[in-house]
Amino acid sequence: MGRHALFLWIVVAILVVAALSSVLPQYNEFAQSHKLNKNKVMRAIKAKVNSPDGRGMSCFACSMMVDGLQTMIKENKTDDEIAAWLVGLCDFFNVEQPHVCKNIIYAFKDEVVFVLANSAFTPDEICGAFIQNCGHSEPPRTVMWNLTMPGGKPPVKQWEKVQDGKPTLKVLHLSDIHIDHQYQVGTEAYCQLDDFLGTYAMCCRDYTDDVKDSRKKDKPIYVPAGPWGMPYLCDLPYQTFESAIKHINQTVKDLDMIIITGDFEAHDSWDYSEELTIENMNNMTNVFLKYFPGIPVYISIGNHEGVPQDAMAPHTMPEYDKRGPQWLYKIMVDMWSNWISDEKAKADIQYRASYAIYAKPGLKLISINTIYCSEFNFYLYINEVDPDSTLEWLIEELLDSEEKNDRVWIISHIPPGDNYCLKGWSFNFFEIMKRFENIITEQFYGHTHYDQFMVYYDPDQSMRPFSFNWIAPSLTTYAWLHPAYRIYDIDGGYPNATYHVKDAYTYYANVTEANESGKEPQWKMSYDTKAFYQMPDFTPQSWSDLTYRLWNNQTLFNEYIKLFWRNDKRDAECHLDAKCRYSYICNIKKARSYDESFCADLKEQLFIAS
Ligand SMILES: [Zn+2]
Repeated sequence: MGRHALFLWIVVAILVVAALSSVLPQYNEFAQSHKLNKNKVMRAIKAKVNSPDGRGMSCFACSMMVDGLQTMIKENKTDDEIAAWLVGLCDFFNVEQPHVCKNIIYAFKDEVVFVLANSAFTPDEICGAFIQNCGHSEPPRTVMWNLTMPGGKPPVKQWEKVQDGKPTLKVLHLSDIHIDHQYQVGTEAYCQLDDFLGTYAMCCRDYTDDVKDSRKKDKPIYVPAGPWGMPYLCDLPYQTFESAIKHINQTVKDLDMIIITGDFEAHDSWDYSEELTIENMNNMTNVFLKYFPGIPVYISIGNHEGVPQDAMAPHTMPEYDKRGPQWLYKIMVDMWSNWISDEKAKADIQYRASYAIYAKPGLKLISINTIYCSEFNFYLYINEVDPDSTLEWLIEELLDSEEKNDRVWIISHIPPGDNYCLKGWSFNFFEIMKRFENIITEQFYGHTHYDQFMVYYDPDQSMRPFSFNWIAPSLTTYAWLHPAYRIYDIDGGYPNATYHVKDAYTYYANVTEANESGKEPQWKMSYDTKAFYQMPDFTPQSWSDLTYRLWNNQTLFNEYIKLFWRNDKRDAECHLDAKCRYSYICNIKKARSYDESFCADLKEQLFIAS
């Protein structure tokens, strides 16, 4: 299952390549004299890394590399010396486009060097986290820790039925907008074709200025980037974002609320700066104020808002004053204050980028900073336990709402069942959702960019489904996608409303067609969730029933895959392959990261079938 975290693989690839090269004899000689054919070396390394024993090799190489880095740190080599060495290797081995090589090391070196110097994990453990089958696959991503759940869980209430004929509210759910202000029409959209390691992270940009003269050649453009965006490894041109916003503004007249589940920045993490993020957040705020005056916008922070990407250190970290994300959380306070007036909420945002407010009377909306469970928030490897007491704070908010008999919505970026979320945090979050299942009415997420959902099962009560996640498709085309957004009809706006989703409509635009026609993208309804999947309602039981229908009905499963990718071609044969089907369906049932125990029944059937 794809994770759009390629940038980190670049860092890892650099480490691996660098380490491999250090064990290759005469490396320095061939590096200097170019006696060896570089492409040959590249192919040899790639074959080695991908071969079964190559995993062992990458492991060994990575450990050596981390070990080497830790030694260099101990020997007081300057950051610049280390960085210069890595940049040279990245460039030499064509791990990335020269511009990226030049900047990515500098973007991450401060954080990585600091964490390596302060982390208790060994090189083997760090490498084990990022290279499959590296032997030490347990820590640091799967460290467990336990929060005490408050007792006194009330008897489980029936999921409230939504009655017909009652007032409804309209809510727009946008996620993963990722605007690329440097998107350039006519540049290569398929830049991976030039790339030996398969690590190029982002296309549709012109980086030719950064190519050394010796490497400059007239390259043919295989797939030229069109004006409205490309379903490749490309982010969204600004005009496509504006087209979507204008379309929504013109067609949805009775919008009550907007939810944005994070990620505004492009995927060029090598070029992130605090100044740029501040500027982009201000621009974004102005767009929403301009097109949707008077409509509240509730946002959750995304991993791409971090500088470097995903870097959000909690208060317990050494040198918090210097390295903490205060500057970023301040921007969030400034931006979100346009729609939030509660002083306590503002203080919570400044402290941990999470907040709770009443979106409507009786409806508490809780926005949670899930970057505190991101596997790429390297600062967490110094201490993973409940960063900034976010989960303890969440429990307090939920206890308060339980007393008041509120309905609660959770909005957040990373779905905690995704392996992007560290295991300890994910398991504790799951327990909280279970403890407060009576009052948690809906959960909204993004981050994966795919059109997905997830179901929570209670392992202590014969796998009773008790909650689920809405996961909105991304507005960005990254990666290989068409832009999409979702509109919900909510049962609400009257006393004792359930605040459940009554209907969900997903919209998209085919940018390939827009590019060909030379006209603005046609935003169309892709599907009506209830009608399309023939669901009677959106109870956890109905989502679970759908999950099993997808598992058992290959035709329906194939329809799900098309919507998942917003594309007819991706994994088009998956429905014919039981193992492929399992990977998608287990992903739905996996509400805890690094845990497939909820998929045991599927696995059993898979075993019988094969
Ligand atoms: Zn994203």
